[in-house]
Amino acid sequence: MHKFAVFGNPISHSISPLMHNLAIKELGLDAFYGRVLLETATDLKQKFLNLGLNGANITVPFKLEAYRISDELSEAAREIGSVNTLVRKNSKFYGYNTDAPGFYEAIREFGSLKRVLVLGAGGTTRAIGYILAKNGVKFDILNRSEKEPENFKCENFYTYENFKIQSYDLVVNSTSAGLKDDFLPAPAEILDAVFKEAKFAFDAIYGKITPFLDLASTHGVRTKDGREMLINQGALAFNLFYDNKFDKNLILSAMSRAIRL
Ligand code: NDP
Repeated sequence: MHKFAVFGNPISHSISPLMHNLAIKELGLDAFYGRVLLETATDLKQKFLNLGLNGANITVPFKLEAYRISDELSEAAREIGSVNTLVRKNSKFYGYNTDAPGFYEAIREFGSLKRVLVLGAGGTTRAIGYILAKNGVKFDILNRSEKEPENFKCENFYTYENFKIQSYDLVVNSTSAGLKDDFLPAPAEILDAVFKEAKFAFDAIYGKITPFLDLASTHGVRTKDGREMLINQGALAFNLFYDNKFDKNLILSAMSRAIRL
């Protein structure tokens, strides 16, 4: 029997077990996917080994520790500096980042994008920035506080104080504003001005209409939440657990249904 789990803190809200267990059931596999609440980042490796896991997903705040314990890193994980999927093979930890391709798949339907504005400058923005840059999409970052711009591959790194209003096809909320509160991810006057020109708004948060998506809608901007990004990153991780041997659409279909349960 194969054993998998998601590690995080908090973790009780995670729907990854639901998604992965339904995919396991529908593909007729002998496996189980659980969730592990971790108190201390440095316990990740030993806990994984003690549980005899074959693979794991890693969520906030342990993606950096997963990166540190990986013996081999995918190109994306190395460039982004964070790992959300660990696979144990031949006594080694293989680290991957499936948030980046998961995001890119989710925005594919928007077609070709000339310029993107990404709100936030945390781990998810690093993944989003990596995949936008890799696909030749130019983007700026707007964050509430200063960060080292060279970590993000962006054209311009702005804070609210020096932001210059310009035209963007897509605006992405990659902050946690709106997740457990009703905050906008940037001042309303900036978002109002940006949405006047934008075609699309994407929120990495899923399962709710955030104040960001709500404001975008009032400007007639087409909106999308992070549900498809979540399912895509999960399906890619699942297939990495099994050496990419399954049809991705079968996994996506099971995970999409799981998320509606
Ligand atoms: P981090 O904690 O690494 O970064 C959070 C970012 O949000 C920081 O830039 C922070 O600014 C900013 N921020 C937090 N609160 C506010 C606020 N009230 N106003 C403005 N900016 C704020 O988080 P992650 O990058 O890991 O996650 C970001 C979001 O992406 C979360 O909501 C998470 O749920 C979602 N996510 C969704 C996924 C999916 O599959 N759909 C996958 C991964 C993440 P500062 O730098 O100033 O502190």
